[in-house]
Amino acid sequence: MSNNQKKGLLVVISGPSGAGKGTIHAGVLQKLPSLKKSISVTTRQPRKGEEEGVHYYFRTVEQYMQMKQNGEFLETAEVYKNYYGTPKAPVMKILEKGEDVIFEIDICGARQIKQIYPESVLIFIMPPSFEVLEKRLRGRATDAEDVILRRLAESKKELATYKEFDYFVVNDEINTSVENVVSIIKSEKCRVERNDAFINELLK
Ligand code: 5GP
Repeated sequence: MSNNQKKGLLVVISGPSGAGKGTIHAGVLQKLPSLKKSISVTTRQPRKGEEEGVHYYFRTVEQYMQMKQNGEFLETAEVYKNYYGTPKAPVMKILEKGEDVIFEIDICGARQIKQIYPESVLIFIMPPSFEVLEKRLRGRATDAEDVILRRLAESKKELATYKEFDYFVVNDEINTSVENVVSIIKSEKCRVERNDAFINELLK
């Protein structure tokens, strides 16, 4: 992308399982309708109400592996025995048009994105305490005890990577968290370095 072209913003919402990142992601998309959503590929089975091409692209492990081999992913991760990946082409198209895109992905994927696209904005979502996180994981009532304990242990390791993120949002009350993420996005869009193209045009 040339320096004179207006670049879109790439926002990544991440955090441990049970942090509430999915709910925040949905809330932010509602408040900022111009924001484009990246739709991931997954090898997991669709849950009730999930639609192909809306929530995910559901693929077999073979199809996923083929896509990976073809270099079609921006980042990939294995999350609790399923594979996930962000298709590269649609994201690049959005950014090149100068539009903004938001991802809701795991921590491992977020760190990959920062390495390949340093201008991205990484937001870490964390409940106010591990006790609250545990309560939320138990509240889902879908996971076995050993799964909950594994996720909790994993979340401590994940939290230790917080310095690789740009922002940290404590998700205590959902509406406040959505507002905080919206404010981050609005402020990031006003950063001087993100407005080079526009300023250069004015100075012409
Ligand atoms: P779920 O299966 O519950 O929808 O998602 C499980 C985890 O995978 C969540 O932490 C979610 O953020 C993450 N995830 C979803 N899509 C992607 C993706 O494309 N890449 C990565 N790295 N993680 C993803």
